[in-house]
Amino acid sequence: MAAKRYFTNKLADSVGAFVEIPKADIKNLCLKYVQYIFGAQTVTPDDADGGLYVGLSGVSYMCYYLSQHPEFAEKKAELLERSECYLQHALTDADAPKNKSSRAAFLLGGCGAYAVAASLNKTLGKEKESRIFLEKYVSLADGCLGLDYLGCGSDELLVGRAGYLSGILFLQKVFESEILPEEKVIKLCSTIVQSGVKYSKKHRSPCPLMYAYYGTEYLGAAHGLSGILQMLLCFPNFLQKHPDAEPLIKDSVDWLLSLQTPSGNFPCAVDEVAKPRPDAHELIHWCHGAPGVVYLMAKAYLRWKEEKYLRSCLACGEVVWNKGLLKKGPGICHGVAGNAYVFLLLYRLTDHHKHLHRALQFANFLTSEEFKQARTPDRPLSLYEGLSGTACFLADLLQPEKAHFPFFDVF
Ligand SMILES: [Zn+2]
Repeated sequence: MAAKRYFTNKLADSVGAFVEIPKADIKNLCLKYVQYIFGAQTVTPDDADGGLYVGLSGVSYMCYYLSQHPEFAEKKAELLERSECYLQHALTDADAPKNKSSRAAFLLGGCGAYAVAASLNKTLGKEKESRIFLEKYVSLADGCLGLDYLGCGSDELLVGRAGYLSGILFLQKVFESEILPEEKVIKLCSTIVQSGVKYSKKHRSPCPLMYAYYGTEYLGAAHGLSGILQMLLCFPNFLQKHPDAEPLIKDSVDWLLSLQTPSGNFPCAVDEVAKPRPDAHELIHWCHGAPGVVYLMAKAYLRWKEEKYLRSCLACGEVVWNKGLLKKGPGICHGVAGNAYVFLLLYRLTDHHKHLHRALQFANFLTSEEFKQARTPDRPLSLYEGLSGTACFLADLLQPEKAHFPFFDVF
């Protein structure tokens, strides 16, 4: 029998009482990770590779994010300096990518570096530089309008249109203004819908909007349907101007909801619906499974106010609590911190301290003896696989009312 992918959860569950976050301990753990990253992070062209996901722009983002956090005020200058240093190397890579089509890729390509650069320069008071990077970001929109401009599926989050839009959402929040002219945002959204309808009809999918990435109909956050639908729901002006799109999106969300397993998880791709993975191979990751789909269900709940979406979110929380202490490491894409973010989302959705308690328990598990047996990811310092993401999670645990998975805020 294959070994389990997760540590058995022996942590005490909530008794429902008020939870106090031990701020000093959490902050110290966060700073310990940050110091380790500062000591170990090198800045070669190879380090820049991988964008926000596993490259230097992701580490730069973590430094920027913490620099904006009131709990780290005394570290602000150092964090900003580090953020700038890592980003400089990331930008060289973004301006001259090995693969041209990856320029507009948000999480895995150059675009993410431009978004961080625009935000960081704004914070540093460098208005002109900030504007130049915003313009670079905006200039890449037209390249994302071809129905399949990447040739392998162009709608998903890591390299495709949904990712480009998640960068727009991030920038709108930082700059508190419109980033891309509204008609362009709407054009990008309607292209996603058009692409999904076309694919669904061609492949006779039971879901009105369907997408594939390199031939696989993924369902999760990273390459799949849920991340794409979530982005569409984040642009209310698009939904208002295209009233025909919302029913298609809602029917697609409901179809995905119908696939939630009794334990609360979601299959990773359509071909696994008829032939589920054996229990030992089940994926409970942000990238594939409930810890990522939960954000779509939360967004659906916030938009349509139907209890079934909230119930789905709570079921995601249960499976993450039961099977979410991943042996893959501490990261946010497929690690303990990413799964703990689910509890911070549920806390924000419901105000119930039970979820905050669970988030804290997962944070505590990071320093347990047992967790020392977890694997070290390939990019151990990075934002999505490594400790930079863990640091963002711990910082968010210090202000849970504002917590959000990086570039995936549904509120
Ligand atoms: Zn992952």
